[in-house]
Amino acid sequence: MNALDENLQKLRKYLARFESTGIQNRINGNDVGGELGQFASISPVDKSAICQVARGGATDIDAAAKAASNAFASWRDLPAKQRREILISVAEGIEARAEEIAICECWDTGQAYKFMSKAALRGAENFRYFADQVIQARDGQHLKSPTLMNITTRVPIGPVGVITPWNTPFMLSTWKIAPALASGCTVVHKPAEASPLTARLLVEIAEEAGLPAGVLNTVNGFGEEAGKALTEHPLIRAIAFVGESKTGSIITKQGADTLKRLHFELGGKNPVIVFDDADLERALDAVIFMIYSINGERCTSSSRLLVQDTIRETFEAKLVERVNNIKVGHPLDPATEIGPLISEEHFNKVVSYFDIAKTDGATIAAGGKTQGDEGYFVAPTLFTDANNQMRIAQEEIFGPVLTSIEFSTEAQALEIANDTQYGLTGYVWTNDLTRALRFTDKLEAGMIWVNSENVRHLPTPFGGVKSSGIGRDGGDWSFEFYMEQKHIGFAMGQHKMTKLGAL
Ligand code: NAD
Repeated sequence: MNALDENLQKLRKYLARFESTGIQNRINGNDVGGELGQFASISPVDKSAICQVARGGATDIDAAAKAASNAFASWRDLPAKQRREILISVAEGIEARAEEIAICECWDTGQAYKFMSKAALRGAENFRYFADQVIQARDGQHLKSPTLMNITTRVPIGPVGVITPWNTPFMLSTWKIAPALASGCTVVHKPAEASPLTARLLVEIAEEAGLPAGVLNTVNGFGEEAGKALTEHPLIRAIAFVGESKTGSIITKQGADTLKRLHFELGGKNPVIVFDDADLERALDAVIFMIYSINGERCTSSSRLLVQDTIRETFEAKLVERVNNIKVGHPLDPATEIGPLISEEHFNKVVSYFDIAKTDGATIAAGGKTQGDEGYFVAPTLFTDANNQMRIAQEEIFGPVLTSIEFSTEAQALEIANDTQYGLTGYVWTNDLTRALRFTDKLEAGMIWVNSENVRHLPTPFGGVKSSGIGRDGGDWSFEFYMEQKHIGFAMGQHKMTKLGAL
């Protein structure tokens, strides 16, 4: 049996358990059907129905928010050491079922096994990292004054809502849920409707690891139904959201009446700038990796290539050769580099840019077509002869599609790089250190890598500027979001009291 057949056999075994009941909501440690019925989860590989999924609504969210609220005090007050041990057990549970998570994620999202097997383990790493931070999470500081012993400490904000998208959904959800739990918050998670499978596995693993009932609740369903109700619920103190910029602005409005604290990780149209003095072979590897891995359905993808005029022709020629060689195929085949796009709607959106590029006057140097007659497959695509005013340079396509733009001077490169509503990541390739310093100082992005692809180091801040987000994840920044600063002043003696009404 080849590796693909082996993975398909495992997939059938993993999915068999969802045949009769489908995926239910998990509220207070119990399986609960959806208030609004069910919906079918569709595999992008062959458009077949994977299983039925509970369609949650406001009543389900209310039950989940109450469960999270009831579980809050005892989770908050659990000694840090015990909370740490539970989170480490969650990490171990993820590691033990990493293959199941990866295989289900591939089938649910179309992402290639090559990358999802690593993403599942990354989810475990997120839990381990934040488990190790639990002990310090509440540490305060002593702010001196002559008359008061001022202590500033941190306490968890309360029950929080986590709303996640469909691209690498398992890993992204652990990124939010692990620090929220480590802080002492309880969680209601609303996974993306297009990718419910692995969120179910996560809540199961967490409960098996000893997470008390109600600490993590999962309500499936659509954004305008379950998602909206979550952002409006008065018991939910904060919303950590990952998704499109326009959804972020809708959530801001929905959360206004209950004054929600908000953390947004949104879209991107990230530039990779290649100067002619760079190590061009390494730059080529990075440019290809950062747009064509994970199907290009990646917020940090370098979807705009800014290449210096002196090397443009050679660089693009090498790019075309490599792009045409990328293996598009079944996501459960370990050799596959690009799988199908998530859904029909998203596939149609990505494909529409092939015509938009032509209308705008760009050249399709590679790809620009669909592949196969079943599933949502597109060929990896490269647009050349583009300028930054074109829609293919301004809009987030969110597929394996790269737009290449020529520049001649450093100043011009900077102007083009910043001429976008987004500001998530930037990638700069040059061997001139002073230029790298000048350029990165002015580049409008929350995260920048010099002579590197995106290498995420968990203690560093992750997030965007402009329409790409509000707030930061990672290290202590996550605790800043999920916790409140609390000031307590102890009078040390005889500071002068102000007496009103004194006789
Ligand atoms: P989306 O905004 O359509 O949906 C994301 C989630 O929000 C889903 O769970 C959806 O059900 C929910 N939602 C939709 N409308 C809602 C509403 N009115 N109220 C509450 N919840 C609602 O995004 P998507 O298409 O699933 O994901 C792709 C987008 O996510 C891209 O723009 C991508 O750049 C972005 N993204 C950003 C990051 C980052 O770290 N910056 C990471 C991954 C993805």
